Amino acid sequence: MNIGGLQKFSLLDYPGQLSAIVFTQGCNFRCPYCHNPELVDPQRYSPLLETEKVLRFLYRRHKKLSAVVVTGGEPTLQEDLIPFLKLTKAMRYKIKLDTNGSRPEVLQEIVNQGLVDYFAMDIKAPLKLYKVITRADLEVGTIEKSMELIRRSGVDYEFRTTYFDLLLSTYDLASMQDLLKPGDKFIIQQCHYNKTLDEIKRENIVTGSFSFHENPACLSLIHWGTEHSIKISLRSL
Ligand code: SF4
Repeated sequence: MNIGGLQKFSLLDYPGQLSAIVFTQGCNFRCPYCHNPELVDPQRYSPLLETEKVLRFLYRRHKKLSAVVVTGGEPTLQEDLIPFLKLTKAMRYKIKLDTNGSRPEVLQEIVNQGLVDYFAMDIKAPLKLYKVITRADLEVGTIEKSMELIRRSGVDYEFRTTYFDLLLSTYDLASMQDLLKPGDKFIIQQCHYNKTLDEIKRENIVTGSFSFHENPACLSLIHWGTEHSIKISLRSL
């Protein structure tokens, strides 16, 4: 595994669990607002951590921590992700996997082998804007494929969108409902701009004066979700 970072303790990243966070290095997307540029831009990569040392750390902590979050970058690009998850699972950890959903075949294998207890998948934008936001040559059907696979996996999950207001309008946000289905949990996250992949000029940012909880498009989306058994919530980072 190319592991670019390890956070030894978190109360926030796995719902209801004390977790450690493993950050994989490398991503096939280039979201301008990405706040982990050192895991995405090869020019900014920091030295890798040894996988064995990370596994040893997890082994030593398995009585104090209950979960491991594997995030990135994009974890499903790692060739040895599945062996890593197997070893982590053998230590009786719950595992949450964060993914951009670009590799449904890897997600399917993970589901088949029962290696993950919680999926968090980013939905970057309405499908028509996916390439604009991710700057990736992606077949957008793979996103819907991953969403459907996760829904049917029997594993807890959430879908989430970071509201990047330089490229997404509140109308785009509202149109995310086209991708959602009854039973989904969907989280809209506020973008934070203190360390991003692209340099984003402060004067262009409007989110500072934007309140999710007062915005008519957000409120109408939440209302629509309630009517369709889709739990929609807002998360400020
Ligand atoms: S936000 Fe996620 S998917 Fe986008 S570039 Fe960063 S790590 Fe990759």
